[in-house]
Amino acid sequence: MTPNFLTFDIEEWHNANFSSLDLRLYKDSPSNLESNIDKIIDICAEYSVKSTCFVLGKLAQNKPQIIKKLYNAGHEIASHSYNHKLIYNMTAEEFDEDTKRTCQILESLTGEKIVGFRAPSWSVSETNLEWFYDVLYSNGIEYSSSVYPAKTYMYGLPDFPSHIHYPIINGKTKKVLEIPQSLISMFGKNVGFSGGFFLRVFPSWFINRTITQMNKQGNSVFVYLHPHEIDVNIPKVNLSKKESLIFYWNIRNTEKKIRKIINKQQNSFVDIKSFAAGPDLSLLVR
Ligand SMILES: [Zn+2]
Repeated sequence: MTPNFLTFDIEEWHNANFSSLDLRLYKDSPSNLESNIDKIIDICAEYSVKSTCFVLGKLAQNKPQIIKKLYNAGHEIASHSYNHKLIYNMTAEEFDEDTKRTCQILESLTGEKIVGFRAPSWSVSETNLEWFYDVLYSNGIEYSSSVYPAKTYMYGLPDFPSHIHYPIINGKTKKVLEIPQSLISMFGKNVGFSGGFFLRVFPSWFINRTITQMNKQGNSVFVYLHPHEIDVNIPKVNLSKKESLIFYWNIRNTEKKIRKIINKQQNSFVDIKSFAAGPDLSLLVR
């Protein structure tokens, strides 16, 4: 069976990056994060699945009990950077510092080496590719799940391979495994289907059918969601029309939908750390 991955980006709703409004203005507003995470833990327990949680260092510092809860429930804890700063706005030195700091915080909570990383808002770009994987590797990171291999208005690397692989940058093979987002071709464009806004847009039967098709071709798929995407009480703020649509679309049906996806995929879901350390890795990397 081709393994798939259930992943969550553990952050507050106001950590999302948008151009029409700086959501950090709301950083001190009340938070439903803990109850949303309790819900995630319960749903995963109901279907006996283990997820990989990409966690912000600053959040783990401020609310360590939430991250310990996730860890104690058997979920993998990986890094999602310190405070969701976009990597294409950092120098290599800043990214190194950010990664070190986050790993130290997370490791002090779990007592385990952190081996996984996901870039905030898929912010790997042509300008940081040269050092991105080297910085991760020097910090003991073994895999990254950071690339959206097409272009959107905010992010994306259109020429990047879309399967699990060790990236070759400027002729050199990097030592960090990349697990890029799986995309489908629709109306002449490559788009995501298995996480975030895309997961909220497409019906569950379509997502499940596409995962099965990709698995038959020997490709793994990761599903991803943020805690605020199942929060029917998420605060409403004045984003631009387009960004408001992306942020709030169909939240009320998303818990039901993720349940349907987990129900169908439950036997194939493994945490990424176990996958990367197991025999399936050599079968899927190409
Ligand atoms: Zn994020």
